[in-house]
Amino acid sequence: MLKALKPNLQLASIHDIDLIKLWHLGYRNIIIDVDNTITAWNRHQAGEEVVKWFNKARDLGFGICLLSNNSQSTIAGLASELGVLVSPKSGKPFSRAFKSALSALSATAENTVVIGDQIFTDILGGKRAGMYTILVDPIDKKEFIGTRLMRLLEKVIAGRK
Ligand SMILES: [Mg+2]
Repeated sequence: MLKALKPNLQLASIHDIDLIKLWHLGYRNIIIDVDNTITAWNRHQAGEEVVKWFNKARDLGFGICLLSNNSQSTIAGLASELGVLVSPKSGKPFSRAFKSALSALSATAENTVVIGDQIFTDILGGKRAGMYTILVDPIDKKEFIGTRLMRLLEKVIAGRK
């Protein structure tokens, strides 16, 4: 896999992330994708397990910001439900999106982790912005047509299994 497209860590889901270990490694902030990372595609309601995960991360002391290319108003509702921030700017993989999330968190690239299910938005953008990246498997196979095309490119170009 091309280096710029290779996540630092690849796991089945957010529930497999060792949050305590990340904290001990010095990470203090999380920038996290929404669609297919914490909710099924275009269903902006967090399940009970996801709510628990966010509570755990917050209790440990992590600052958390949602960064989605979906409409900001849709994401804002979910962010308030989860008690986290939402990035003022979107447009992954462009660095303005990641910078705006970092600034909302008062974070630095060095102490922030990016979590998402897509290589060409979450991972590429997070790595280019100098952050530690975690790729998770998509929750749902049903996706926006543009995303389905991206999945094909993830397989062909990035060698994703
Ligand atoms: Mg996603």
